[in-house]
Amino acid sequence: MTNLRMPLLVAGVLVCACPSYPAAQDSRGSDKFNGPLRDPPRRDFDFIHLRLECSFDWEAGSVDGTVTHTVRAFRDGVRALELDSIDIDVRGVTLSDGRPLSFETLPGRLRVGLGAESRRGEEITFSIAYRAQPRLGVYFRKPSIDSPGTPMQIWTQGEAEEARHWIPCFDHPSDKLTTEVFVRAPRPLIAISNGRLISSKPAGDDTSIFHWRQDEPHTTYLISVIVGEFSVWKDWAGKIPLKAYTQPRLADLAARSFALTADMIDYFQMKTGVLYPWPRYDQICVSGFRFGGMENTAATTLNERTLHDERAALDVSSRGLVAHELAHQWFGDLVTCKDWGEMWLNEGFATFFENLYAEHHLGWDEAVYARDERGKKYRSEDSEEYRRRLSTRRWRNPVDLFDSHSYSKGCLVLSMLRYVLGDDLFFAGIELYLERNAYRPVETADFRIAMEEATGESLGWFFDQWVHSGGHPQYKVQSRWDAQARSLQIEVEQTQEVDHLTPLFRMPVVLSIAQSSAVTEHKVWVSEKKHTFTFPVAERPRMVRFDPQDWILKELDFERTREDLLYQLEFADDVTGRLEAARDLEKFVGAETVKAKLFERLAAEPFWGVRGQIVSTLSELKEARVARMLAAHLKKEPKSKVRREIVKALGEVEGEESVGTLREVIRLDPSYYVVADALKALGKVAGAGARADAIGALARASHREVIRVAAVDVLAMDDLMTGEVQKDVVERLVSLSGPANPLPVRLAAFRGLGKAGKGSDEALNTLTEALEKSDVTLRCEAIEALGELGDPRAVPALEKRRGKEIPVVFRDPVEAIAKALDRIAGKTDVDDLRKEVRELREKLETLEKRTN
Ligand SMILES: [Zn+2]
Repeated sequence: MTNLRMPLLVAGVLVCACPSYPAAQDSRGSDKFNGPLRDPPRRDFDFIHLRLECSFDWEAGSVDGTVTHTVRAFRDGVRALELDSIDIDVRGVTLSDGRPLSFETLPGRLRVGLGAESRRGEEITFSIAYRAQPRLGVYFRKPSIDSPGTPMQIWTQGEAEEARHWIPCFDHPSDKLTTEVFVRAPRPLIAISNGRLISSKPAGDDTSIFHWRQDEPHTTYLISVIVGEFSVWKDWAGKIPLKAYTQPRLADLAARSFALTADMIDYFQMKTGVLYPWPRYDQICVSGFRFGGMENTAATTLNERTLHDERAALDVSSRGLVAHELAHQWFGDLVTCKDWGEMWLNEGFATFFENLYAEHHLGWDEAVYARDERGKKYRSEDSEEYRRRLSTRRWRNPVDLFDSHSYSKGCLVLSMLRYVLGDDLFFAGIELYLERNAYRPVETADFRIAMEEATGESLGWFFDQWVHSGGHPQYKVQSRWDAQARSLQIEVEQTQEVDHLTPLFRMPVVLSIAQSSAVTEHKVWVSEKKHTFTFPVAERPRMVRFDPQDWILKELDFERTREDLLYQLEFADDVTGRLEAARDLEKFVGAETVKAKLFERLAAEPFWGVRGQIVSTLSELKEARVARMLAAHLKKEPKSKVRREIVKALGEVEGEESVGTLREVIRLDPSYYVVADALKALGKVAGAGARADAIGALARASHREVIRVAAVDVLAMDDLMTGEVQKDVVERLVSLSGPANPLPVRLAAFRGLGKAGKGSDEALNTLTEALEKSDVTLRCEAIEALGELGDPRAVPALEKRRGKEIPVVFRDPVEAIAKALDRIAGKTDVDDLRKEVRELREKLETLEKRTN
C-alpha cells in the first residue's frame, strides 16, 4: 500500500499513502524490525475517562466487569466505535440514559453502534457489561495440592497490550485518560489500584469494595489491580506517603529493599526539576510476577524475588530495580511513549536515571562501571542478534522492543547527550521536556525540541545518528610520538561499515596525554572516516587515552604496547583506564611480567570491578599456578562478585588444589552465590567426586535457592550414569521435584531428570505426570526435560497435552511440546536444541533482571 502514489479515499476519509516515506529497512539481522511503517491507530474519539467495576473468580479464572467509557467525538458523522477486546464475552452495552446499544464482536475487537451520528466535541458515555476469561492481563495465584505455598493473589499486567484481555478499551499509549476502579475482593484480602483510595467498604457478603480513582490522565497499559493479603511498610518522602506491600511472612525484609525510596524521590525531583507527579507511591511485591517490576502509575508492581535477607545483600540489591520503576513515574507515566517504537523514551530514560542514582548513592566509579556493563549488553545484542534504529516505526510485536537497544543503548544515548551538553544544560532540557509534555504522549521529536529550546543548541545531528540510525562508531586509534619533531600524532579511523542504517558518526572526543609533568586534555571533533591530530609533546607520553571517561558508546581498537598497558593499569587514576588496561592485557597475559603485574594489581586495586576484570583476564590461562595464586587471593578478597569470578576460574583448572579450595569455600564463604558457584565449579573439576558435596548442600537454604539449585545441577551433571548410582540420583531428584520443595528446586530437579534419567522408568513417569501440573513453568520444564530424555514412550502424553495448551508469551508450552516431539523423533540436532534451550533460559533470566 505504501507504494501507491495517490491519496486513497477510505470510508469517506482522505488518507495519505505517504509516498515520501523511505523504503529502507530499519534493521538488519532480524525481521522483527522490518516490514511496513506503522503509526499509532487513528481515532474518531478521544477517551476521557474509564470507570471499571470488577470482581474476580479464582476458581474459574474469570473477571466479571462493567466498564463505562466517556469519550469525546473528534468529528461529525461517526456512527460506531471500535475497542480492543480479547477473550471477553460482552453481555450488553448501554448508553448513560439506559438505552441499549448494538454491538458486534470481531477478532480482537468490539464494535459498538452509537445509535446516532456523532457531532464534533460531543461527549458520549456508555457502559459495557462483560465476563472475561483472560489468558493474559490478569494472573490468578492460589494455593493448590501441587503448590501449597502459593498465596491467594491476583495481579494484573497491562504493558504492552494485555489490558484488552480483561477490559474492553482503546488499548494504546497514544491516548491518555483518567481512570477509576471499584474492585470487589473477598475479606480479608485488600485491593490496590492507581490513584487515591476513595473508600473501602464491606459489601455485606464477605466481600469488600475498594474504590480507587486516578484523577490525572495516564494510559490503559498502566492500569493495575492487585488483590491479596499484605503487610505494609510505611515511610514518607516529604508530603508523599510511601508504602511497600509484601506477603506477611516476608514483612521483615521490606525495609532492606525500600528504605532508599524517599531519598530517590528527593533526588529525582531535584535532578528533573519536576515534583513527583502522583499523590502517593506504593510498591507492591507479588508472587510469580513475570518481570522484575512494572511501573503502574503510583502503584508499581514488583516481583517479590527482589526481597532478600542480610546475607543475600552481599550479592544482590533492590536499589537498581526500585530506582528504575520510580524513574518511570516521570518517564513512562507522566510522559508516555506515543507508540511502542518510541520505547526508548520510557526504558532508556528509566535506565539512565537508575544509573544516575547509582552515581549519586554509590559514587562515580560504580556508575562508570554500570555504564560499561550497559555498553556490553547493547553491543552483544547488536553483534549477535540485530541492529536497529533506536526509534523505529517498523516493528511486529511490542514485546520485541523491550530489548537492549531500548534499555541499554537508550540509557547510553542520554549519557552522551549529557556529556555533549554538560550537566546544567542537559538537566534544564529534561525539565522543559517534562513540563511541556506532562500527562501527554511523546515522541522523540518532542524530546529533541525541548532540549533545543532549553539550550539554544541545534541537535538534529545528534538525534539523526544516535536515535534515527543504528549502530555505533568503531574507532581504530593509533598514536605515534615523533622524537625529532617533539610531537604526538593520533590517528583516528572509523572502521564501521557505513550503510543505509549505520552512518559515519560525528562526536566530540577527549584525547588525554599524560607526561611526567602533567596531563593535558584536548577535545577534538571526530566526524570523518579518518583524522590525524598532531599535538606538540616534549617527551614520550606515559599514557595516551581516547575518550578517557568512556562517554561514547563505541568499540575501541587502540593499539598499545604491553608496557603502555601495564603503566595504565597501575597509574590511570580512573576506573575506565584501569578496566580498559586489564581487559586489553589479555593478549599479553602469557608473559610472566604481565602475570606478575596483574597479581600485584589484584592485591592493590581499590575498585572491585577492575579486580574482577583482572581475575577474568588471568583465568584465560587455565594454569595450575595461576589457579593457586587466585586461590590465595580468595581469602583476602572482600567483594563477593570477585570471589565468584575466582571460583569460576578454579572450575576450569583440574587438580587437588582447586578441589580443596572449592570445598573450603562451600563450607565457609558467607555469600550464597559464591557457594553456589563453587559447587558448580567443584562439579566440573571433581566429577562424580562432587556428588557427596552436592547431597550435603541440598540441606542449605539460600536466596532464591541458588545453593540447592546448584547442588541439583551437580547431582545430575553426568548424563551417562547407570545402575545403582543412577537409581539413587533419580530417586533423589524425584523427591526434590515434589510440592514440598521450593519452585526453583523443583524446576532444577525436572531438568536433572531429563539429563540423568535416560532409560529410567521412574524419571519418565515423573516427568510425564508433571505434564498435568497447574503451574505453566513446571509444565514447560517437564516438557523440555522429556525432550532431553528422548524416550519415545513420552510421545502419547505429549501429544495429548498439546491439545490442552494455549500459547503463552515468553514460555510457551505449545512451542516446547513441538520441540520436544521433534527431538524425541530425532528430527533436530541435539546441540542446536541445547543451544536454544540455553538461550531461552538466558532470555528468561535477562527478562527477569531487566526490570520492566
Ligand atoms: Zn522499565
